[in-house]
Amino acid sequence: MNLRTPGPTPLPDPVRQALAQDMINHRGPEFAALAQEIERDLKRVFQTEHDVLVFSASGTGGLEAAVQNLLSPGEPVLVVSIGYFGERFAAIAGAYGADVRTLAFPPGQAADPDRVAAALAAAPEVRTVLVTHNETSTGVTNDLEALARVVKGAGRLLVVDAISSLGCIPLPTDAWGCDVVITASQKGWMAPPGLTMLSVSPAAWAAHAQARLPRFYFDFSTARKWAERGQTPWTPAVSIYYALREGLRLILAEGLEQVFARHRRIAELTRAGLRDLGLELFADPRHASDTVTAFLAPAGWDGRALVRRLREQHGVVLTGSQGALEGRVVRIGHLGWVHEAEVREVLDALAAVLAAGPVAARA
Ligand SMILES: *Cc1c(COP(=O)(O)O)cnc(C)c1O
Repeated sequence: MNLRTPGPTPLPDPVRQALAQDMINHRGPEFAALAQEIERDLKRVFQTEHDVLVFSASGTGGLEAAVQNLLSPGEPVLVVSIGYFGERFAAIAGAYGADVRTLAFPPGQAADPDRVAAALAAAPEVRTVLVTHNETSTGVTNDLEALARVVKGAGRLLVVDAISSLGCIPLPTDAWGCDVVITASQKGWMAPPGLTMLSVSPAAWAAHAQARLPRFYFDFSTARKWAERGQTPWTPAVSIYYALREGLRLILAEGLEQVFARHRRIAELTRAGLRDLGLELFADPRHASDTVTAFLAPAGWDGRALVRRLREQHGVVLTGSQGALEGRVVRIGHLGWVHEAEVREVLDALAAVLAAGPVAARA
């Protein structure tokens, strides 16, 4: 199978071999060495000097951790949403009783930094801004550098869902002033699902010290205290640590800039190939993502039928979109362990399926 979903992503051989290792004592020296190597390497990829915490959970757990650790009941918070995952961030904050103000942009578009600036100017009571770096449901990458300039210029805390961008698309955490950046092991890191990783700036620690939402499993202070000894407060997903260590070694051996360039090159190849097939790309071309490309199902096609035929006849696994876009939009994930050959295979399979036409799909 050519798995081209935007997470989980395929595993390179060294990662798969690492997963076969036996269990170790998570309170022993081998685990401490493992956790400390991961922490050191994560800081390189996050491009931060500050803390990076690791929790056993999917990415949504990381988003929830950020909300619990930074906000108080009834606190006003601005969510800048450009799609399904922005809405999820807002839903989590809402579930915890924050006073959520959503600034939403149409699907396929990026957030306009000027409108974010205006929203912040009109709401001095908002101390924290939640934003998605790369909206996986539409294949749009926000201009996070510009958004960060606005948010930090207004003296607010910036929390970034970078789950499908970090390690693939440039995101210098400290240089841009991002306070909390969240990612997850099954996206760009070439590891299975199971770990979420978050950076925490000094300003975020200060907010954490004041925040009054209930927290326990994901408590940042507890995690940092145990991390000092190379441990986690609760039993970690040990096998995913093995995998993440290998994924990080591969990223750093290739070189961060080279990894970014590979994603850019492959995304351009994907978009050009889709256009050559006569397909319409969904994202605003100025903000097209380097990790996931969304295109519209052509006239006469239901996106779900297209996805089914690619899987059944060609072993190519794409996915539709979520929410209102379901059936209309098809997405290709090209992040993590991805090279030109896999994308060419997707394009060839698409060409064959489209040539056969939607009538044959119903037969
Ligand atoms: C995948 C993803 C998530 C959710 O991650 P889970 O691991 O499925 O919980 C959140 N935000 C973005 C942008 C994502 O791509």
